[in-house]
Amino acid sequence: MKKLQDKILSDGKVLSESVLKVDSFLNHQIDPPLMQAIGEEFALRFKEDGITKILTLESSGIAPAMMTGLVLGVPAIFARKRKSLTLVDHLYTASVHSYTKNETNDISVSKDFLQKDDIVLVMDDFLANGQAALGLLDIVEQAGSKLAGIGIVIEKGFQPGGKLLRERGIRVETLANIASLENGKVSFFEEANTR
Ligand code: 5GP
Repeated sequence: MKKLQDKILSDGKVLSESVLKVDSFLNHQIDPPLMQAIGEEFALRFKEDGITKILTLESSGIAPAMMTGLVLGVPAIFARKRKSLTLVDHLYTASVHSYTKNETNDISVSKDFLQKDDIVLVMDDFLANGQAALGLLDIVEQAGSKLAGIGIVIEKGFQPGGKLLRERGIRVETLANIASLENGKVSFFEEANTR
């Protein structure tokens, strides 16, 4: 998605060879028109899939998930993060390890919001090692819901998450796929340059 790639190039900050900071439009301050365009793009890509719910992770997945839900006309659910969960009776829970923060969180979703007859689009802001996505897939599986695919705003294609998920036969749609962050410079894989 050209608009997103241009924004990454103009406003993204390369913190290291593996971490991109996008605090000015996605992870802290949010750019609403860009989020709207992102929502429209995901909605277009998944419009034939009968999606009934979007599932993401707090907090940075919420803005793109909500905009996609708005266009598709379906609710967006965000899994909550806690260090450790005690009262889990009415919750689907999974464990997610973050390599960027070097911490493991339990994530949870109330059983009220995901059911067997749901068709779910899993979304997140970044795809790196795939741990967050796997945690969300675990929750979809526990609910007995059907997975339509995964929508990722920014994939770091030089890290293993995308390959890991696609090898499992999961449809992964990304709007910007980063090939490298070497020498303080962002470069994209060509195939992500189409729109
Ligand atoms: P994964 O679970 O795929 O390793 O990492 C995905 C999660 O880590 C995302 O939810 C995102 O919050 C965070 N993350 C991973 N890499 C980056 C990065 O380069 N920049 C930012 N801002 N967040 C990242």
